[in-house]
Amino acid sequence: MSEVRTRFAPSPSGFLHVGGARTALFNYLYAKACGGSFVLRVEDTDQERSTRESEDIILDSLEWLGIKGDEGVREGGQYGPYRQSDRLDRYQKYTDDLLSKGLAYPCFCTSEELEQKQSRSKMLGVPHVYDGKCRNLSAEEVQAKKDAGESYAIRFQVDPSEVVVDDVVQGRVKFDARLIGDFIIVKSDGFPSYNYAVVIDDHEMKISHVIRGVGHLSNTPRQILIHHALGFSLPVYAHISEIVGTDRKKLSKRRGATSVLLFRDLGYLSDGLVNYMALLGWYPEDAVEFLPDGGLAKKFDIARCSKSPAMFDFFETDKSEAEFEPLNMEREELNKWINPKSKLNWLNQKYIRHYELPELYRLARPFLEKDERVAALIHEDEELLVKTLGSIREYMTTLEDAGPYILEIFRKSVEPESEEAKSVLTEEGAAEVVSAFLEEIKGASPEHPEDFAGLMKAAGKKAGAKGRGLFMPIRVATTGKMHGLELPILFSLLGKDTLIKRIESVMAMVG
Ligand code: GLU
Repeated sequence: MSEVRTRFAPSPSGFLHVGGARTALFNYLYAKACGGSFVLRVEDTDQERSTRESEDIILDSLEWLGIKGDEGVREGGQYGPYRQSDRLDRYQKYTDDLLSKGLAYPCFCTSEELEQKQSRSKMLGVPHVYDGKCRNLSAEEVQAKKDAGESYAIRFQVDPSEVVVDDVVQGRVKFDARLIGDFIIVKSDGFPSYNYAVVIDDHEMKISHVIRGVGHLSNTPRQILIHHALGFSLPVYAHISEIVGTDRKKLSKRRGATSVLLFRDLGYLSDGLVNYMALLGWYPEDAVEFLPDGGLAKKFDIARCSKSPAMFDFFETDKSEAEFEPLNMEREELNKWINPKSKLNWLNQKYIRHYELPELYRLARPFLEKDERVAALIHEDEELLVKTLGSIREYMTTLEDAGPYILEIFRKSVEPESEEAKSVLTEEGAAEVVSAFLEEIKGASPEHPEDFAGLMKAAGKKAGAKGRGLFMPIRVATTGKMHGLELPILFSLLGKDTLIKRIESVMAMVG
């Protein structure tokens, strides 16, 4: 078999969202699984919407994810250039060929004229198909219009037929070419249309497999017709499932579709996100979902992709129908949409525990340094800090979680942070709860969070307290605060002796 060559071909008109990144990933993984090559091509023929800024964001996002091109705009390669606006002369050659064979023709219809016809079809409730007005212009008519300076596009002539797409994921899908009509392959600005450039580039770049979102399935018959007209052989097509939210509706800009870089900023590891995205529409045969150290690329197969929508469960879109744009929100608001039980959280926890400690520290460091107080601790004794990270990591979901634990662990003295906190300790029954807890700890050798949780429960029983009446006095007596980290976890990190010291000093303060 010839080499497997896949590609990701983003249009640079925004950021790289999860859907696009998943498409890139499937192409990348499939190429790696087959020992093939993965190409990164930039499709910037829509002059109005494409920007270099967006190209950079998309390519930077892919780099962060570790989805590396073997060839591409940044990498170079033997089939370049890899940016479509740098390939205009190549498309021209094929256009001349199609025109000379009578398979394409210039169309002088103005956009007003076309829009009018389109709205008429809409009113009648029929699909809009170009009526072929310019199809039979004579050579003289064409020349006269050109001489008069009329602008024109080039249309591809579509004859009635059935176009069959044999798709690895979607199966066999048939299209009626009469409903496609003659379509534009070169716009009046001289730039090729997407459906045209994509075919020429896939051919010239020797792409063997086209893996992309199912939204492009309806474009495929157009592309197949051009492949045939130019005498190119077809690539294998695999149109992968749609991504939906927990409300089972397609993600959209105002309903949680967001840049992959948001996950980086929230403290997710690129490996965790990549593993999560791989499972959006693909499922490994042995059902093992955590696949570090190249495991994904070893197992990935497009033949095991499902055509049912894949559920992106990071946001709880089923909670409300309100709009939310993660990139334009305050953190506190955003947190309300984040699902604490998402598969991404589960996978991220696994990766945080999986890394070698120095590597985890390297990744966590920028997050730790965001808080001056933690930065100072790093400065004081970095080795101790790394060691501490090693004990906390078991309780971390994201890299952001380390800072607050570290601050709490390294706190030199503890005192009630406010009058309100202080008053918790003088409430009726509070002193009994705290001393019962102290007694429990002193009489045991607790180590793990479960041990401490057990002792808290026992103290509650002894003092006849539960719920807030139990937790709040213990929280204030050990941290001085009324809100914060999970106590059993914190206690296991502090250890019995520190805990006893803290409680005794706080209680002495309150008198
Ligand atoms: N530029 C197209 C897009 O961003 C690529 C589609 C394709 O993969 O053919 O949707």
